[in-house]
Amino acid sequence: MINGEPHTLPESDFTVVGASFAGSLLASKLARHGSVLLVDRRQPGTRLKCAGGIRAQEFESLEVDIPHAKTSTIILASRNWTTRVKYPYVVTDRRELDAAVLAKAVAAGAVFRKAEYLSHSPDRNSADFRCDGETQEHRYRKLILAKGYIFRPGVKFYDTSYVEIVETESRYGDALYFRFHDERMGYSWIFPLPGGRINIGTGSLRGSSVSPADFKRFKEQEKVDGPVICRGGGIIPLVPVKSVMNGNVFLFGDSAGMVYPPNGEGLRHITHMSGKWADCIAHGKNLNVRWLASRTFAMFDSGSIAMKILAFMERRLGIMLYPQLCRLATKLLAILRG
Ligand SMILES: Cc1cc2nc3c(=O)[nH]c(=O)nc-3n(C[C@H](O)[C@H](O)[C@H](O)COP(=O)(O)OP(=O)(O)OC[C@H]3O[C@@H](n4cnc5c(N)ncnc54)[C@H](O)[C@@H]3O)c2cc1C
Repeated sequence: MINGEPHTLPESDFTVVGASFAGSLLASKLARHGSVLLVDRRQPGTRLKCAGGIRAQEFESLEVDIPHAKTSTIILASRNWTTRVKYPYVVTDRRELDAAVLAKAVAAGAVFRKAEYLSHSPDRNSADFRCDGETQEHRYRKLILAKGYIFRPGVKFYDTSYVEIVETESRYGDALYFRFHDERMGYSWIFPLPGGRINIGTGSLRGSSVSPADFKRFKEQEKVDGPVICRGGGIIPLVPVKSVMNGNVFLFGDSAGMVYPPNGEGLRHITHMSGKWADCIAHGKNLNVRWLASRTFAMFDSGSIAMKILAFMERRLGIMLYPQLCRLATKLLAILRG
């Protein structure tokens, strides 16, 4: 028994692996079309994956009732230059966001089970899961892998990040603060959260990785020393997957590389694409064609290519181009805005 529920995985029209943001959101939409089994190896809402920032309009479309900080200002900083731009954004505690989206999926009829996906066999429409220490075969009709980043041979451009929620007020008030790195493609951030907390983190988007020491240095520079409520972070996929559908198996979220490569943003795009995914999966439409023809894919692909070119030129010329471009943009905006 798990949480009082029998541990056998029930039959369903849709089996979704990964009950974090992407899997739960998709499950809530698929539940309109049939029975949904939603599986995760850990209880959603217990891991801090990210900074929890999402554009205001996508947050509103989620219709989740959780504490969040609203902002309309972004502060960009690069070396000695700082500028402010207007942008409506929302910051959530990502753990609460995941838990709320899962609750929505369950309210819509999805059944959640804690189990670890091990493998699947497309020929037999069967997947192996480990539940309660036992391996169990599950016959799926449609299997959706929304289990975070999937390592793929030959795709080496992804990077890592560190993030913490700290009990302290942000010295930038209710603005989002970004500081671009001088020495690599990436940035550090401080986001306000409700309840006298901040989300602070650092990440690199390509090339050299950030280390815990880089993160510690950023915290020292910003004089952030309140109690750490939780730590997290992870891998940021930086290449969109082209083939997101193979027979009855589909990829979604980080598993599909659904992150905008120049800035590492994923939640907003996942929110946007969830309707298209649910519609194609439920109605047997060709998702690969619709994904490749979408504006989101075009944006991801061109962003990924641009970042690859920048990385190549940085290696050839020995100049840090991304930091220079960020500095130039910050400087220009600062001058234009007086
Ligand atoms: C540090 C950092 C900061 C970020 N900040 C932002 C931000 O502010 N705004 C934004 O839009 N995007 C941000 N992103 C990107 C964003 O986090 C991702 O787009 C998003 O988390 C993708 O969600 P997902 O559900 O696809 O994957 P995940 O959140 O990784 O969830 C995958 C789920 O699958 C489960 N799972 C994995 N393997 C198995 C298995 N074998 N069996 C069962 N379950 C399994 C995991 O337990 C997990 O719950 C950030 C990323 C990082 C790393």
